[in-house]
Amino acid sequence: MTPEAERTEAGGTEAPARTHFIREIVDEHNRNGRFGQRVHTRFPPEPNGYLHIGHAKSICLNFGLAQDYGGKCNLRFDDTNPIKEEVEYVNSIMEDVKWLGFDWEDRLFYASDYFDQLYEWAVKLIKDGKAYVDDLTAEQIREHRGTLTQPGKNSPFRNRSVEENLDLFERMKAGEFPDGSRVLRAKIDMASPNLNLRDPVLYRILHTEHHRTGDKWCIYPMYDYAHGQSDSIEGITHSICTLEFEDHRPLYDWFIQNIGIYAPQQIEFARLNITYTVLSKRKLIRLVKENHVRGWDDPRMPTISGMRRRGYTPEALRDFCDTIGVARNNNMVEIALLEYCVRQDLNKRAARVMGVLRPLKVVLTNYPEGQVDELDAVNNPEDAAMGTRKVPFSKVLYIEQEDFMENPPNKFYRLAPGREVRLRYGYFIKCESVVKDADGNITELHCTYDPATRGGDAPDGRKVKATIHWVSAAHAIDAEVRLYNHLLTEATPEDVEGKDFIDTINPQSLEVLTHCKIEPSVVGAAPGTRYQFERMGYFCVDPDSGADGLVFNRTVTLKDEWAKLQKNEAR
Ligand code: ATP
Ligand code: MG
Repeated sequence: MTPEAERTEAGGTEAPARTHFIREIVDEHNRNGRFGQRVHTRFPPEPNGYLHIGHAKSICLNFGLAQDYGGKCNLRFDDTNPIKEEVEYVNSIMEDVKWLGFDWEDRLFYASDYFDQLYEWAVKLIKDGKAYVDDLTAEQIREHRGTLTQPGKNSPFRNRSVEENLDLFERMKAGEFPDGSRVLRAKIDMASPNLNLRDPVLYRILHTEHHRTGDKWCIYPMYDYAHGQSDSIEGITHSICTLEFEDHRPLYDWFIQNIGIYAPQQIEFARLNITYTVLSKRKLIRLVKENHVRGWDDPRMPTISGMRRRGYTPEALRDFCDTIGVARNNNMVEIALLEYCVRQDLNKRAARVMGVLRPLKVVLTNYPEGQVDELDAVNNPEDAAMGTRKVPFSKVLYIEQEDFMENPPNKFYRLAPGREVRLRYGYFIKCESVVKDADGNITELHCTYDPATRGGDAPDGRKVKATIHWVSAAHAIDAEVRLYNHLLTEATPEDVEGKDFIDTINPQSLEVLTHCKIEPSVVGAAPGTRYQFERMGYFCVDPDSGADGLVFNRTVTLKDEWAKLQKNEAR
């Protein structure tokens, strides 16, 4: 089934939020009073890259649940790794969450806000004989860890006295030891079938500045030690995370129980995967740092900032997240579904204009020199309130190269020698002759127009089989247009055996057209303005636009919608 077939006309943003297993869990908690009817979620990004569409799913889920249940959702930066984190990422994440339409109000938090508390709790665990300082190297710790089939081995430092552990941990904090020389570990069970419970590391020494705490700390908590306690501190009711954290849940519970603090409920759901796309910050960073794309907000990137620049709307992304739903099993979503949601949304809001991407000059031999006709055009057939505009028509026009064929095959109904077509909002024109250069390339067409067909119909009832778009040469705005294809050539790039996903980059993912001609109504359009270029797709003004001219990104093609329109028009 195509994504289109699964959905009704009435779908889209008006559809009520769908129910899913997480809502059922929340409903159950509300019935049994586990959290006293409270619903308090959080979106907890690590500020180590820009957000992608997978994060959008998590944002919509967490903020959406809070909205639906009259609860709250926090934004919390899980900033426990000062080496990979940057302020640039923090700022971009806040911008993206806001742009998606969500508001954390006064609840912006950082795991680093809790470093003092986390340290105190680590001291408590030491005092209770539940944590110890280990002098093994990272390599040795790995060796001692065992495997899925073999139990691990106790560290020779595991039975240090509480006093010695307290002293060493204090001195780790005071900066007495070099990076990597010691760690603090939980004393749980080196034979546990769950590797996460084999004495996990709680603290490591890192003499590195943190973007918020500066040089106050030279020991930093591990993500696993900070995450669950941060949720507890914030009074989170439902700690929603992706499936790979299922095996970490017993560890988070162990911390909560052994420290003796409030326990949120962790719930795991399937992360979003999309065809022809990678969704992992580690991989996206490579695309940026190795210059395979122009930056984090390159319109080919699956980042929220890339999609914004490309012209996707927050409504379309929210609709997509609602449509894909929330499941417990990992699956793969067709990128066509995302594009479908974008198209549905833009169809309602984008003003129609005419733009010729690959111009072919047309001279109307019987049109008076110097005359300009102002033709009425509808701005959006989906929304009468968007009104109409005048489009100038004159003797020299541009049409799309692909709308003319000198020797048309059977199914080609557009312009050809001796054939008549309708110009959108204009007249019938007939191709009388083809002008070529010395090399035989077509340089222009000489056509005649029929003044009696103004507005699109012939009084004598004669029919044409196609309607094509055009612009008046004297009035057109020059523009650069960037067309995008999938960034990767493989539908499931992560599954290609023995191949780095970088090797699947599509060399044709970006096509730049520099001599496009757009109707004059777009002049001065601000970056971010969205249009439908009739028959050619949805386009969005890029911030690269400037004094030299407009630059457009093609947001998405029209596909079937145009096929329908063609059918209706081939009267
Ligand atoms: P990545 O693998 O891209 O680095 P991450 O899980 O490390 O992602 P975080 O910053 O830790 O990124 O994620 C913040 C939140 O977004 C987490 O709750 C995480 O589970 C969720 N999230 C990340 N990727 C996806 C995805 N593809 N689908 C759904 N949720 C996701
Ligand atoms: Mg992560």
